[in-house]
Amino acid sequence: MATLEQIQRMPKLELHIHLEGTFDPETVCLLAEMQGISLPRPRQHLFDFSGLSDFLDLLDWICSLVQNRETAQQIAYRHAKYAQEQGILYTEIIVNPSHWKNIRTGELLTGVLEGFDQAGADGLPDCRLLVSLRREQDTASARRTIEWILSHRHPRLVGVSVDGNEACSQDSNQRFAPLLARAAEAGLGIAVHAGESSGPEGVQEALELLGAKRIDHGVRAVEDLKLLERLLRERIPLNICYTSNVAGGLYTPGNHPLGELYSRGISVTVNTDDPQLLRVSLSQELQRVAEQYHWKIEELLKLQYYAVDAAFCTEERRSELLSRLHQFEATCQNLTAF
Ligand SMILES: [Zn+2]
Repeated sequence: MATLEQIQRMPKLELHIHLEGTFDPETVCLLAEMQGISLPRPRQHLFDFSGLSDFLDLLDWICSLVQNRETAQQIAYRHAKYAQEQGILYTEIIVNPSHWKNIRTGELLTGVLEGFDQAGADGLPDCRLLVSLRREQDTASARRTIEWILSHRHPRLVGVSVDGNEACSQDSNQRFAPLLARAAEAGLGIAVHAGESSGPEGVQEALELLGAKRIDHGVRAVEDLKLLERLLRERIPLNICYTSNVAGGLYTPGNHPLGELYSRGISVTVNTDDPQLLRVSLSQELQRVAEQYHWKIEELLKLQYYAVDAAFCTEERRSELLSRLHQFEATCQNLTAF
């Protein structure tokens, strides 16, 4: 089975992670203190959640602490440092402006892109941005977000995402479809959360109505054999978050479908979703799945190859990432040969 030391050394990619879930408790307390805002509960219990609505309320409260572009820049830069500590080569981070109540969308996204640019200039991992629409948000505000994206093209802004609760917003696919079509026409990647708060039909709709090229979560696709055949045939990646699904009560470690999806040859990647809020790093997440499925480093490396295929990057960048994985694979084989 893969050891934590091997996992840490392995070059990694992460494609399903929300910037809103990357604030560590120290940063949260510091931001609150700087603004004279009191914590909603004692510091030692800040990330102890009583349920999903408590989790979402805290997430919105944390984002409300970011009130200017400089702070957004610092948060983005801090995330790049975390990515470096984790041995991440390339990551696409989701930002959903609807969570950030005290900063304008343009200021927020510009700050995040500046933070990622600065990180790139300082030799930190390659961080790219996916701007997300929340299913519960109204069409007019979603349209404003898409218009901002289309009029402020930036090489690090590589795609548009859709997240939020499908069960509470059943018409969101129809409402957002024309907006996502415009984003796709402009060359942006489309990633959609589906098959978590919805069943396999949610994944089907994400592909057909929203033109999704990747599915975030997508785990409930396992319930529909025809859909699995399609995912396999069209090589649609599922960006799976094992700890997040278990923490949310969707599965137990024993019945999570990651192992089955992997053995069926579906292109799966493993990600943390909200690493600080769920108290799990990418290396720990990979270690958990290795323990659950008795996977060696070879299986975990295969997940990284799938992620390289799934990344919304240029072909040049993709071949650089592939060669880094090949190098690591060669060192593993040399070690085994001895
Ligand atoms: Zn997510």
